[in-house]
Amino acid sequence: MKISRRDLLVWSAGAAAGLIVTPVPWKLLDDTSIWSQNWPWIPQPVRGPIEVKQTSCTLCPKGCGMKVKMAAGWPVGVAGLGSHPISRGALCPLGFGVHQLNWHPQRLRFVRHGSQISSWNDAGAAFAKACNEGPVVVIEGYPGRAASSVLETFSQKQNGSYRVVLGSETRALEAYEAWSGVPTSSLAYDLESAKTIVSFGAPLLDGWGTPGQFTRLWAERAAGKTNPQLRLIQLEATLSRTAARAWQWTSIPVGSESGLAAGVARVLLEERLVAAHGPMPSLTLAEAAAQTGLSTEVLRDLARTIASQTPAVAIASDDNPAVAALNVVLGSVGARGGIVRRSKRTQHYISADAELPSARALLVDASVPWDFVPKTNAEVFRFAAWDGGSSKADWLLPSPGFLEETNDIPSTPTSAIETYAVSPALTKAPHEVQSAAQFLCSLDPTFTTAEKIIHSRCEELFRARIGALQAQERTPVAKFDSAQKIDEQLSKGAIWTGGPGIPGFKCVLKEWPSVNPSDSENSSTIWPAPVLPPLATKLYRESSLREASEMRNA
Ligand code: SF4
Repeated sequence: MKISRRDLLVWSAGAAAGLIVTPVPWKLLDDTSIWSQNWPWIPQPVRGPIEVKQTSCTLCPKGCGMKVKMAAGWPVGVAGLGSHPISRGALCPLGFGVHQLNWHPQRLRFVRHGSQISSWNDAGAAFAKACNEGPVVVIEGYPGRAASSVLETFSQKQNGSYRVVLGSETRALEAYEAWSGVPTSSLAYDLESAKTIVSFGAPLLDGWGTPGQFTRLWAERAAGKTNPQLRLIQLEATLSRTAARAWQWTSIPVGSESGLAAGVARVLLEERLVAAHGPMPSLTLAEAAAQTGLSTEVLRDLARTIASQTPAVAIASDDNPAVAALNVVLGSVGARGGIVRRSKRTQHYISADAELPSARALLVDASVPWDFVPKTNAEVFRFAAWDGGSSKADWLLPSPGFLEETNDIPSTPTSAIETYAVSPALTKAPHEVQSAAQFLCSLDPTFTTAEKIIHSRCEELFRARIGALQAQERTPVAKFDSAQKIDEQLSKGAIWTGGPGIPGFKCVLKEWPSVNPSDSENSSTIWPAPVLPPLATKLYRESSLREASEMRNA
């Protein structure tokens, strides 16, 4: 077609008119004006020496490695730490803006009792009184830390109970604990050795696990290849970001994951596509097809594809015994490229979702997701750095924010590599804060503080002489001549890594778990933070990385 000068003029005029009536330029102008405003709560950066510290993010149990730019002792910027063995330089949107959170307008600045401002002395007296009157239940969301040990010891001393709010990725491993006796806290996925990953709605390329862990693996082994070394089969209702980038995407109705897992397992067993033995699902192939909306031939093709490149592992987005049973049939439990045992830890956690015992008081640690509402009539003492809105709490107790207390970071959930890191207090809180562990130690001086527990954990690492410390370079623990030096290196941002997970544990599954169509929710949407930094808010809401709950329900 020949394009005349007149056509060009008409198109240009049309484009200009179109630009005026679209919301795009006005939205950009609006954004620019909002983000360039000087809100009264935004601190003015002080002039002073600039230094960069290496540490780990403690906002959630994934513990991503980060570099923090400090100006005169205040964090003013963060970036991912490329040498971190798990996150490998990646951070989630919340992590990128974490230094902004200490100045968030919803930061808890005072002790609150009901709607009144109170004091730490009053809170301490009320808690001590409650402890004298009956048992205390302690709930936390980030188990395995030195601070967790303080919380657990306290609940035992009080004849109370210690409960844990587990993330959806950890809950997806719970079924194996029931069948093998190995605690969920020491189970993990050996993704590095897998050749086929069958994801039942788990957002593997969109925030699942530790940011950077799977995305980097995918970029190295699969992205853009027609016949990659690593296949990702995404079984999900909608064309999510993970589904769009997967090697194969099959759309299934929400809630049909258990039926699909049973259908695939039936084909694997009937056609002898796997060597492993497992119980035959009671669901027939026709019933599985009816539940999933897929034809029996599509189910057969799917099973054959999974069996054609092994090791293969199935990953559920939350607790789903049928998906776990599929892994038993695939022979992927206790095997390389499947579910492995990360450590010899034997600690079992009781979920906070189970019915809580009757108690006089409930202590909720700041690591518990804000929207967790305990079902209790006890007096609730809730620690939090930020006020996320309505919450069932009689007392709200301001906790340290980002880098305001020393914490340790145990192995990240789902990762087969055992790690240990320390995040030292690098900055001061602008008002009086106490973590739940500090609060308990201040009430009972016989308790060992979290800092002392961290030192003794460094001594254990030194004595065991296993693994290596990863800083600029990797130094085996055996080369350190004192526990003190390990402690110093960890406080400067080094990360201890153990060996890869240990396969070969026994898992007994006598009968196929009952299949109920569930309304399991995608884990990318059930990780609520009490507040978001401005940068993360923009990324979450406008990039569809994680849909806001109100949009989801619209
Ligand atoms: S996932 Fe985000 S919030 Fe969690 S540790 Fe990593 S950067 Fe921090």
